[in-house]
Amino acid sequence: MPQFMTSTEAAVPQSDAKTPGFKRFKLGDFEITTLLDGLRPGDGPHPTFGANQKQETVAELMKANFLPETKFVNGFAPVLVNTGSELILFDTGFGDAGRENGLGQLEANMKAAGYTPDQVTIVVITHMHGDHIGGLMNGQTPGFANARYVAGQIEYDHWTDPARTGTPAENGAKGVSAKVKPLAEKTTFIKAGDSVVSGITSEAAYGHTPGHMIFHIESAGKHLVLTADTANHYVASLQRPEWEIAFDTDKTMGAATRKKVFDMTATDRVPFIGYHMPFPAVGYAEKQDIGYRFVPATYQFDV
Ligand SMILES: [Zn+2]
Repeated sequence: MPQFMTSTEAAVPQSDAKTPGFKRFKLGDFEITTLLDGLRPGDGPHPTFGANQKQETVAELMKANFLPETKFVNGFAPVLVNTGSELILFDTGFGDAGRENGLGQLEANMKAAGYTPDQVTIVVITHMHGDHIGGLMNGQTPGFANARYVAGQIEYDHWTDPARTGTPAENGAKGVSAKVKPLAEKTTFIKAGDSVVSGITSEAAYGHTPGHMIFHIESAGKHLVLTADTANHYVASLQRPEWEIAFDTDKTMGAATRKKVFDMTATDRVPFIGYHMPFPAVGYAEKQDIGYRFVPATYQFDV
């Protein structure tokens, strides 16, 4: 044994180094990178998920899926698409507001993935909840210095309507006013069906919010769907799409949209990235008797 090492010192300290916060793969000629903004442990999933169900019913489904019955970890996964001519970021995480809770890690993980925020040329916002728009501004400074922006007109109009004042949506409206409004002049406000660039097209997926949109990404015959917040828990929202979700503005429409979107990805066998799916947030929906099963992607993109 070398002189400097005693038997008690030889024990290996446990490493607290973090799991890598990005996953990269190719889709046709596009390069896709999912980036982890952070993980947020807490109580749940009931009553946030399955608010119209008994606690025991939700707990039973969690148990059947080898998940804790009263604890839940939510994840947040913005997506970077390099088309070869544009570097497009979909959603921006919590930004500076999340850092004290270990969130707001998008910038750090983007750098770990080989990019810097000033290289982003377009930022697309799927909808305007705080966990998606928080990184747009660092205080008074844009988080992505050289980007232009794309967001839904319906979504923007909803959150900037003075009618939100004095309602439960007032906080969200304040967030939009701080994070999105300062960038409005550099923003192209689109309607569902409009394209961001060639190969990237929006589709209405209303319910979670009034203007929530998903995005089809297609390159060289390959297809993937960014489902954003259509489903927010990989078991509760996918296996039981009709269970109400507290985060959905219109709960009935949210459920109908979940069924429509995942019926499409399941039938067409198209992979999807969901913002709140277990990181790296890429997988498939398999149709079941009721609902869908989330099948995480493994090496499908590597062959
Ligand atoms: Zn979200």
